[in-house]
Amino acid sequence: MNKASKICYGTLSLSPLQCSYSLQEKTSLLLYAFQKGINFFDTAELYGNYDILRELIKNINRKDIYISTKSYAYSRDTLDESILKALTEMGTDYLDVFMIHEQESIHTFRGHYTAIERLQELKALGVVKNIGISTHFHEAVRDVGTQKEVDIIHPIFNEKGIGIVDGNISQMKDSLKLVKSFGKKVLGMKPLGGGHLTDDPIRSLRFSFESPLIDWTAVGMRYREEIDFNLSVLNNDSGHELLLDSINRKPRRLDIAEWCSGCGACLSKCQHGALQLIDGKCLVDPDKCVLCSYCATACRDFCIKII
Ligand code: SF4
Ligand code: SF4
Repeated sequence: MNKASKICYGTLSLSPLQCSYSLQEKTSLLLYAFQKGINFFDTAELYGNYDILRELIKNINRKDIYISTKSYAYSRDTLDESILKALTEMGTDYLDVFMIHEQESIHTFRGHYTAIERLQELKALGVVKNIGISTHFHEAVRDVGTQKEVDIIHPIFNEKGIGIVDGNISQMKDSLKLVKSFGKKVLGMKPLGGGHLTDDPIRSLRFSFESPLIDWTAVGMRYREEIDFNLSVLNNDSGHELLLDSINRKPRRLDIAEWCSGCGACLSKCQHGALQLIDGKCLVDPDKCVLCSYCATACRDFCIKII
């Protein structure tokens, strides 16, 4: 992973869950990012978009990119199913990183341990190069990130700690300092808090790009201008303002993920009456929503994003 680019293309933004572009449009964005120097791509079984990586691989040399994916596999069999699906649908014979998705604590890690054991066997065979976990919990970073089986941790990391379920950014930093002392690598996620930290995106991106705790930052991008903007912030190039102006003119909306449990915790945060529960799911009225982001902090499952 030594040559993986500091910016990792977080492809949830190009998943059918969030994006209705054609396969060709999505592939063209990945190719554009690759041509601009981004060679690290993160996906997940949940995102349902292995096809875009397959198309990317067809157009370049597989060895020139790094692919990370993840699933909720909890046993040898479910892990094998996930790996087979990833390899087959992407058209590759190895994965640079495979993570167990959304670990909450050392207890969930132990609950998935037979999948971790199988991952270790696949790592010895060269099918998986690195084993990781993704998490929204600083305690999982601390307790699971220090385990010998784990090479890479993929935690939420943004200046306001948006999305950290069990604490704040200061606690996340403390946990990351610990795992870094164990020599682990860190792929930060949500530097813009799922679209809620766009008041000063340059400062928010730099918070992650410049942190010694973060090796790579996964950023979701849906426009060429976003790719250019993020790279210009990373490289400290001029022209931020023009690019930002162009991005700000793109339409934005509040998106509530399909995995919303309908707990209702976000409803009271909205002073505009834009949220309601219908048939056990939270729905937003786009005519009332002013994209203020107040509701996002109430959702422990990180369902609410501005896209
Ligand atoms: S972003 Fe603001 S206005 Fe929109 S639903 Fe959330 S709290 Fe309400
Ligand atoms: S807080 Fe999250 S999970 Fe609960 S209703 Fe709102 S969006 Fe859905």
